[in-house]
Amino acid sequence: MSAVLIDGKETARVIRAELKEKAAALTAAGMRPGLTVILVGDDPASCSYVTGKKAACEELGIFSDSLHFPADFPEAELLKIIGEKNRDSRIHGILVQLPLPPHIDENKIIEAISPEKDVDGFHPVNVGRMVLEQECFLPCTPHGILQLLMRSNIDTKGKKAVVLGRSNIVGKPIANLLFQKQAYGNATVTVCHTATPDLAAEIKEADILIAAVGRPATVTSDMIKPGAVVIDVGVNRIPDASKKSGFRLVGDVDFEAVKEKASYITPVPGGVGPMTITMLMANTILAAGRALKNKEKKTC
Ligand code: NAP
Repeated sequence: MSAVLIDGKETARVIRAELKEKAAALTAAGMRPGLTVILVGDDPASCSYVTGKKAACEELGIFSDSLHFPADFPEAELLKIIGEKNRDSRIHGILVQLPLPPHIDENKIIEAISPEKDVDGFHPVNVGRMVLEQECFLPCTPHGILQLLMRSNIDTKGKKAVVLGRSNIVGKPIANLLFQKQAYGNATVTVCHTATPDLAAEIKEADILIAAVGRPATVTSDMIKPGAVVIDVGVNRIPDASKKSGFRLVGDVDFEAVKEKASYITPVPGGVGPMTITMLMANTILAAGRALKNKEKKTC
C-alpha cells in the first residue's frame, strides 16, 4: 500500500487564496495588513526564508517592510528598531529572522516585540496564552501542521501521537496543541528527544508521528506502525552531485520506504515547509483584523 501524499504546496495555495480575500477586505476597510521582516547577517538559509516571506506578502497584498542589517549590527540598535516598529501603526506583524548572530540575545529580542505584533508566536505571552488555550498567535510551523491534518480530514481525537524533538518552535508547541481539548487535539502525546532510551519503540506506538529532529533517515520503515500518519518537519541538506547547488533537501523520514507503510505522509520539500510561511501570513492578517476591531472600539 502506498500512502496518500499530503500536499503542502496545494494546501498552502488554497489557504493563500482565502487569505488574499481577507487581506483585500481589511485594506478596503482602511487597515492594510503590514509585516516587518528583520534579517541580521547573511546566512544563506535565512536570506532565502526572508525572500520567500517578502514574495508571499506581495502575493497577498500585504504591505512588507524588510530590513537587512550586517552581522555585527549592535543589539541595542536592533532593540531600538523593534521599539519603532511596535509604535508604527502601518505594521501589524514583526518578525526577526532566527538564528541571530551570537552577540545578540534572542530571548531579549523576542520579548521586545509587542505580543500584539508577535506573528511568529514566540513571545512568552503568546506561548503562555497558547498553553492556556486563550486567544494568541499560534507558532507558524505547528499551526501549519494542524492545518495539514485538519484539511486532510485526519482525526486526532483518541489517537496516539508521537512527537520527535522538543524545540521551542516545533516540538514543544505541536505536542501541546495535539493534546489540547480542541477539535485539532484530543490526542495522547509522547515527546521524544536525545535522552529517549528506545526511540524505535516509541515510534512504533504512533498513530500520528511528527518528526522534527533535523537528522536525515531518523525514521525508517521498520519503526512505523502500519497505517500511521507521518508528518515530516525536518529539512536537511544532503550532498547530491546531480544538482546544480550540489545538494538536495530531505526530511527526517526515509520517505520512499515509509510511504509504503504509512496511510498519509508529507513530502520534503513540499509538505510542511510551504505551510509555515502561509501561517505567518495568516497571523499577520489576524493581527491587522484585531487592530481594526480595536480602532472601531475606540471610535464608538
Ligand atoms: P532543534 O532546535 O535542533 O531541535 C531538534 C530536536 O530534536 C531536539 O529536541 C533534539 O533533542 C531532538 N533530536 C535530535 N536528534 C535526535 C535523535 N537522534 N533522537 C531523538 N531526538 C533527537 O530543531 P528544530 O528547530 O525543532 O527543527 C527540527 C527540524 O525541522 C530541522 O530540520 C529544521 O530545519 C526543520 N524545520 C522545518 C520547518 C519548516 O517550516 N518546514 C520549520 C522549523 C524547523 P534534545 O532536545 O535532547 O537536544
